Amino acid sequence: MSARLLLIGPPGAGKGTQAHRLSTALGIPAISTGDIFREHLRNETELGLKAKAYMDAGDNVPDSLTNDLVADRLSQPDATAGFLLDGYPRTIDQVRALDELLAAGGASMDAVVELVAEPDVVVERLKKRALEQGRSDDDEAVVRHRLEVYAQQTAPLIGVYDERGLLAKVDGIGEVAEVTDRIEAALATRGIVFAA
Ligand code: AMP
Repeated sequence: MSARLLLIGPPGAGKGTQAHRLSTALGIPAISTGDIFREHLRNETELGLKAKAYMDAGDNVPDSLTNDLVADRLSQPDATAGFLLDGYPRTIDQVRALDELLAAGGASMDAVVELVAEPDVVVERLKKRALEQGRSDDDEAVVRHRLEVYAQQTAPLIGVYDERGLLAKVDGIGEVAEVTDRIEAALATRGIVFAA
């Protein structure tokens, strides 16, 4: 079904894993700005080269670059009926840019799911991911910095979406399938229904 959704939560909360599962279940694309930036890095594009230092340090890539990238991605045909954003927006400026982009097409967000996970748990998860996937920004010091950046720049967005009545808080700790069930149940109460 058509839905414009956002998964928000600290690094390591399981957003990427859940985004893929929900995207399949709903038939809408999961759009991860982190994945798109990593692809640019691999391909050594101009954008990738500009983003690299920020990503390596665990800092946010500047809003102007990120907003342009998302505007481009959301203009592609597969995103017209809906999408699930993972890792964007991450700053108040990005919320504003997304609002404007959607409003220009007469649309707005339908729901925002916060995946709740304690810092200690996510640090452990990311240590494991560093061993499995070798992501350079999963180094422990960088992870701690990413958590600080999240707390300072991204956590305030939760209140913004809550005030709009869009927020569903979901416990992100547990088996992957169990967390997916929780998200689906939270979305169902907002009229976003999954096929059985
Ligand atoms: P992620 O895969 O979401 O953890 O993102 C990895 C890195 O990509 C982040 O630490 C940032 O450097 C960059 N990044 C991803 N999404 C954004 C965003 N919305 N705004 C700024 N930087 C981002």
